[in-house]
Amino acid sequence: MDQIDVVRTPASWVVVGLDNGGTCNNATVLDATGQYLVDQMVESPSLVTEGPKAAVEQLAEAFHGILALTSTPMTLVRAVGLDTPGPASAAGVISSQGSTNFSQLSWHDFDIRGALEARIGLPVIYNNDANAAALYAHHRHFGAEAPQRSSVAAIVGTGLGGGVVEDGKVVRGAVGMAGELGHVQIPLHGVLEEGQPVPRCNCGFEGDVESIASLTGITNNLLPYWLTRFPDHPLAQESIKKAAKLLRGYGEREDPLALAVFGQQAKAIGKLFTIAANFTDPSAYFLGGGVVEAAPHFRQWFLSTVREHTQLRAEQLAAATFALVPDLDMAGARGAAVAALEKVRGTV
Ligand SMILES: [Zn+2]
Repeated sequence: MDQIDVVRTPASWVVVGLDNGGTCNNATVLDATGQYLVDQMVESPSLVTEGPKAAVEQLAEAFHGILALTSTPMTLVRAVGLDTPGPASAAGVISSQGSTNFSQLSWHDFDIRGALEARIGLPVIYNNDANAAALYAHHRHFGAEAPQRSSVAAIVGTGLGGGVVEDGKVVRGAVGMAGELGHVQIPLHGVLEEGQPVPRCNCGFEGDVESIASLTGITNNLLPYWLTRFPDHPLAQESIKKAAKLLRGYGEREDPLALAVFGQQAKAIGKLFTIAANFTDPSAYFLGGGVVEAAPHFRQWFLSTVREHTQLRAEQLAAATFALVPDLDMAGARGAAVAALEKVRGTV
């Protein structure tokens, strides 16, 4: 890529956003006027599998790298936003049981936020990746009205990540577990077929959103059931994991088995949004994840099916918006930067 064309230099003080993933970090810079200084992904290896020390060093590298790329002097940086996959506390301490991305024992209970703050000598503001994406979707969608608006975001991936934004801020909860929308149990009437086993989630719950609306839900629950209904389907020849990954391609080609599976996912998210409508009554419902990267006709069908199964009252229907999370691969870094900007603005 020709980065010269897409890189601006700062017009004011700035914040940096760092999105930490299983293989890569993505970095961005946001200035105080709300302008992102890069229009694309700026990636570098995350080395999370090598443990916390190497990974924090890589985050520091990504931080200094993005400053160099945008010709931003360190003196202009007021704060850094960091997001990682969960589960982690609101203060950025990785779960005591580790997680998919942070499986090494040295990661358990590791304060990644504090470690990065100590390493680079600037305040670091932490969010999990789904919350960061939700925050970015909210601010991008509402712009100047963001502080007066509320929204809910469901991000469909390996799991089902979520975020609840109220008055422009992520709702974190007492221990950072607010917005874990994947583990909200939903009414299954109208979602499951007659005789379909109740889906189970890795968290131990039955019939929560993630048990249906996630890649894990497809692999463990939906596909094994639907293959019994379509025994001659070509995916029956594949391993269940491979079949689950191939399913979106079939959905884009309007394959009946794939549409049955994704239809159930959309209905489940509709049930979740119906709960949200009666809980925080948000102005916007955002949908993100792999499905957003699918062919346009397919993602529009998915979003319409979600909307169709979200039961809103007439007043809510008139006020609410349904939209896809924009710039999904950059949403984490950008949302992390928004959180840092908001923090600085709140304290200056
Ligand atoms: Zn669960």
